[in-house]
Amino acid sequence: MEVVFGPVPSRRLGRSLGINNIPPKVCSYACVYCQLGNTIKLDIEHKEFYSTEQIVNEVEELINKVDSETNKINYLTIVPDGEPTLDLNLGKTISALKQFNIKIAVITNSSLLDDKNVRTDLLDANWVSVKVDTVNENMWHKIDRPHGKLNFTSILKGVKLFSEEYSNYFAVETMLVKGLNDSVIPLKVKQLNECNVQ
Ligand code: SF4
Repeated sequence: MEVVFGPVPSRRLGRSLGINNIPPKVCSYACVYCQLGNTIKLDIEHKEFYSTEQIVNEVEELINKVDSETNKINYLTIVPDGEPTLDLNLGKTISALKQFNIKIAVITNSSLLDDKNVRTDLLDANWVSVKVDTVNENMWHKIDRPHGKLNFTSILKGVKLFSEEYSNYFAVETMLVKGLNDSVIPLKVKQLNECNVQ
């Protein structure tokens, strides 16, 4: 299993070394549009999948192989084939990766951001992208097909809290799915209030 790969060109991040800190398709969502195929393990439990030492060693090995003149690495990006915040070691790994003096990015589906420990784990990253595909709970079930124990209102509150706590680059991404969340009906204040994100 390849834990570290690249560098690959990224439209948003330049040349990015990818870090796959989760085994294939262990995720809290089973999104209808997932390009990685069906979720193999729908889970919300934090676990250690790979040790921080293994990840750091593999990153170091790949950095040493890359010609720094012609193949500059702009970001170490934690972008696994699943949900990165399920990794119990995420905060420790981000701290350990700082030794390479390369910016660190994390791309999360945001489903676990209502957990303070998860938000704290992400604070040291330089760039965090969270997914918000919809602010409508029924549509959330249709598009993201979440684990049964996840709570939509808590997740939106978690996203809001993280946006206040986090001081580096914060991105929000939405996947538009034809026939589901691609209408141009403007959100009414009433609908926003129904989301109850205070
Ligand atoms: S959150 Fe990402 S990895 Fe998980 S099912 Fe959705 S698109 Fe796939």
